[in-house]
Amino acid sequence: MATRNLRVVKWLGTVPAAAVCMQCDRNFKVPLELLKRTSAAQENLRKQFMEHQCKPEPERPDVSR
Ligand SMILES: [Zn+2]
Repeated sequence: MATRNLRVVKWLGTVPAAAVCMQCDRNFKVPLELLKRTSAAQENLRKQFMEHQCKPEPERPDVSR
C-alpha cells in the first residue's frame, strides 16, 4: 500500500487485515466480509485512514470521543 503513514500490521495471505497509523498509533481493522478481496480490504483501510483524525498528543490521559 502506498498511503503515507499507514502501515499494515496484519496480513491474511495477500490481504491486509489490519493497519496502524504511524503518527497516532490508531488501529484499523478490515471487516470480515471484505477479507476475501485484496482490493476491497485495501480500499477499506485507506478510507478509514483518510477519515480518522490524528491526535496531536498521543499520550493524553482522558480521551473523549
Ligand atoms: Zn493518525
